[in-house]
Amino acid sequence: MIVVHEFGRLRAERKRLPEPVGFLPTMGYLHEGHLSLVRRARSENRSVAVSIFVNPTQFGPQEDLAAYPRDLNRDLALLEGEGVDLVWNPEPETMYPPGFQTWVAVEEVSQGLEGERRPGHFRGVATVVTKLFHAVAPQRAYFGQKDAQQAAVIRRMTADLDFDLEVVVCPTVREPDGLAMSSRNTYLSVEDRRAAPVLYRALKAAESTFADGERDAQRLREILHEILDQEPRAKPQYVSVADPDTLTELNGQVTRALLSMAVFIGKTRLIDNVVIENQ
Ligand code: AMP
Repeated sequence: MIVVHEFGRLRAERKRLPEPVGFLPTMGYLHEGHLSLVRRARSENRSVAVSIFVNPTQFGPQEDLAAYPRDLNRDLALLEGEGVDLVWNPEPETMYPPGFQTWVAVEEVSQGLEGERRPGHFRGVATVVTKLFHAVAPQRAYFGQKDAQQAAVIRRMTADLDFDLEVVVCPTVREPDGLAMSSRNTYLSVEDRRAAPVLYRALKAAESTFADGERDAQRLREILHEILDQEPRAKPQYVSVADPDTLTELNGQVTRALLSMAVFIGKTRLIDNVVIENQ
């Protein structure tokens, strides 16, 4: 496995990779969710490239950039174990040298949900992913359903900017009690960790009510709130029943929807989602 920190080395090593190249962008502190993407990429491509970069431009001024967990040596050992070929690990100054002033804004699909609560977040994501796509030039790029709006933004951007690659969105990997794996789960105290599966419980309750025939979007939102309200440590920031592609909020009867939420458990902000669909 080759680990590179500069553009020149990246370009030289990229040229040597047999194609197709499968690529996944990460912010490191890897867990089974990331590794499931690596395995999928490994099974579908001749080469696998991974980036590890905690992207400062997708964090708001009040967010956790400095505190974001990092452990490069552990990450590299995990990626080596999965047979990854190339790791791109630039410094922030390499990605954003002095004078940097070019941004990618994906408009409507960035606006609701996470975009509304994290102003500028998707501008940072779209910009860094554009730069990563240019630098790594993969044939396929892998993203997790865990970050559903991110996946929708990247799909839109890839189509709009004519990137010649396939975006592959992989299922959310969960802990045995349903908590979606996340590098941020490390912030949870013991009590918070015990409370955190309430997000998935709420999503499953709404999903099963839908399976039993409930179609009203507002009623589904109420069910999500009812379950979250049972957990005193949980403070919902939003719950949403939205169109899975455009992410516009739905009302009335639904046949297909993204159920999603952001919930503070203590001081930690967690997100989760499921897609429901008429069978
Ligand atoms: P991050 O390091 O958090 O930026 O995540 C890198 C990629 O891994 C993104 O495409 C995420 O959506 C994906 N990912 C993170 N957590 C999970 C999970 N629990 N299951 C599946 N994919 C995930």
